[in-house]
Amino acid sequence: MKPIVSKDSIVYFNEDCYTALNSYLEKANHSTIFILVDSNTHEYCLPTFMSKIEKSYSIEVIEIEAGEIHKTIETCSGVWNVLSELGADRKSLLINLGGGVVTDLGGFVACTFKRGINYINIPTTLLSMVDASVGGKTGVDLGNLKNMVGVISESEMVLVDTNYLGTLPAEQMRSGLAEMLKHGLIKDQTYWKKMSDLSKLTTEDLDLLIYDSVIIKNEIVTIDPTEQNIRKFLNYGHTIGHAIESFYLTHPDLPTLLHGEAIAIGMIMEGFLSHHLLDLSKEALSEITEIILQTFPKVSIPKQYEQEIINLLIHDKKNENGTIYFVLLNKIGEATYNCTVPNDLIQKSFEYYGNIT
Ligand code: NAD
Ligand code: ZN
Repeated sequence: MKPIVSKDSIVYFNEDCYTALNSYLEKANHSTIFILVDSNTHEYCLPTFMSKIEKSYSIEVIEIEAGEIHKTIETCSGVWNVLSELGADRKSLLINLGGGVVTDLGGFVACTFKRGINYINIPTTLLSMVDASVGGKTGVDLGNLKNMVGVISESEMVLVDTNYLGTLPAEQMRSGLAEMLKHGLIKDQTYWKKMSDLSKLTTEDLDLLIYDSVIIKNEIVTIDPTEQNIRKFLNYGHTIGHAIESFYLTHPDLPTLLHGEAIAIGMIMEGFLSHHLLDLSKEALSEITEIILQTFPKVSIPKQYEQEIINLLIHDKKNENGTIYFVLLNKIGEATYNCTVPNDLIQKSFEYYGNIT
């Protein structure tokens, strides 16, 4: 698996990861090396990482608590303080070993500490391998508002070692699969076909699918790093998906819904919108629905909550000039951004999903 090169970074895979890292560390001559982990990656991933480092560098471990609720400026503050107390300077290196929370937060800490120190991402969840660790978006949440504070600045390198997935809980694996399905839908019909039967997946198959998914994400973010145009494609399924995700998060009476599970619902509903507003055929919509449901069984969204979720979507403060812009599909493998959708059709997309048997 050849490394994937972007404008300012490079992604290495599996056996190449540590060869690249060791030679980088040898050449770069950092004053101090820090590694950021959360409580889970400390336990499950750090021992493997340490065993791969050839020289006896002194590596300081910084641990944060696991989970999205800790992706905050307060956690950053804690990490900045530790860096400062341990004498980090402009020539220090921060290695982020973890899921999207660690890579987003660690990237932000690195880009801002002393106006920027080098950092490396080592993603340990499927979602962070195919999505969060690639493309230079870093940041933290502000209260309920996701990723409100951050910068775009690429890591020195990304090391995708799929062996870390061995300890990842099954539901976290599924969450990452949603983003991979999305990559096929927005950019590559052949990739979508490869993703269409995940039931007999071997480790080797999964490695190749991860590799291809990183290629798709990297192509998009290299052309449009600051989301002026085609990077918006990556939001497919996320407009409705985010509203559902936020709603479920704030309603303890509802079951927990991971990001990928909400996005999977969003992709089906936005497929419905694509069929009604663009050229996505009826057959393609059925195919999208069927394939997504194979991995993400239908969630029954209580009827009484539908309108509240739609209101949340319509009043989403992130929308530009009060208009909600959707990414929709012309066909499988081809997306369009900045699509507007009448409110009654959004309602119908909930009905479409609700009526699936
Ligand atoms: P996460 O980092 O919270 O990881 C999920 C859980 O898995 C955590 O409990 C974590 O401790 C645990 N974990 C991680 N690796 C493990 C391993 N190998 N074995 C066992 N447990 C492990 O969540 P995530 O899904 O990886 O990432 C979600 C975050 O990514 C969100 O904050 C989202 O905003 C961000 N994101 C960023 C981008 C971007 O472009 N920067 C893109 C997509 C998502
Ligand atoms: Zn996502």
